[in-house]
Amino acid sequence: MLKIALDGPSGAGKSTLAKEIAKRLGITYLDTGALYRTVGLAAKLQGVDPADADQVGKMLSVITVRVELENGSQVVYLDGEPVGDRIRTPEMSMYASRVSAIPAVRAFLLDTQRDFARRNPVIMDGRDIGTVILPDADVKFYVTVDPTERARRRLNELLAKGIETTLDEVLADMKARDLADSTRAVAPAVKAPDAIELDNTGDFDETVERALSIIRERTK
Ligand code: C5P
Repeated sequence: MLKIALDGPSGAGKSTLAKEIAKRLGITYLDTGALYRTVGLAAKLQGVDPADADQVGKMLSVITVRVELENGSQVVYLDGEPVGDRIRTPEMSMYASRVSAIPAVRAFLLDTQRDFARRNPVIMDGRDIGTVILPDADVKFYVTVDPTERARRRLNELLAKGIETTLDEVLADMKARDLADSTRAVAPAVKAPDAIELDNTGDFDETVERALSIIRERTK
């Protein structure tokens, strides 16, 4: 079963890339961030502090998180209910980021991710797919984007949402978050030694073509 890992920092355009690669190869795409967001949503619904490892750990023994493929796309269920767009708010990004630093949460979601890859040929995007979840992936990518370009894209997103900020502020915030993500104790967001760096600064179609030719080369 084909397994492709696509890791990298937030705002690098991983999900857009992974979706397109999945479509072109006729394989499935798993957005693993959605699983952390779902655990975050569970914490929110139960009034649990997402940074409190004990409370979150207890919560894990009473919730179920399941991911299914429906019409080719993933649907994540929390206690039997599809989570839908409730996980896509800025508040849930923050909750996801907090709970994802708790080792018990990473352990809780490990089998869900590995089982998915066992059942479906897949490209998975995340932070630790190539290092922890699928260390034996057929191809591992680590997506990068020039920091100023990444900040510019993020600035445009924020301005479009009516949030007033500047490029300098966004750049400083992004650097701080990258540092926190890459230096955390559990599953830090780092490039696997055998991952191929994929620069996503330039033309999107060219990046996709580059990725596809690397995949073809590695899997023939
Ligand atoms: O990718 P997305 O922004 O949806 O991920 C939400 C949060 O979940 C990230 O900020 C990160 O802290 C965490 N995450 C993780 N490992 C993954 C995917 C996401 O720690 N494989």
